[in-house]
Amino acid sequence: MKILENKQLLMDCPVCDKKHYVHIIKREAKTVIEGKEVIYPETVYICKMENSKEDEFIPAKVMDENLATAKKEYEKRYVKKKEEPEKEEEVEQHGESESPE
Ligand SMILES: [Zn+2]
Repeated sequence: MKILENKQLLMDCPVCDKKHYVHIIKREAKTVIEGKEVIYPETVYICKMENSKEDEFIPAKVMDENLATAKKEYEKRYVKKKEEPEKEEEVEQHGESESPE
């Protein structure tokens, strides 16, 4: 899996109930929206305390952001953007020219 970003944040970890640096990674994730596969950057928090296994968790707020990101990717990929209204070009009027018979 591709890791797009990796940073750390000091916070109260909900996994082990301690305050420590939690790894925050962004990785490629796959989901299905409206029957279409969408690949989007998902943010995941990882509790990586010494002598313990890695535990992933996603705070509710981040989960919402992930969903919003996935939806955006879906729209980018599968939903036609609303085209900006094209400038009305001045169309030359080809009126019936008075053509000689
Ligand atoms: Zn922890």
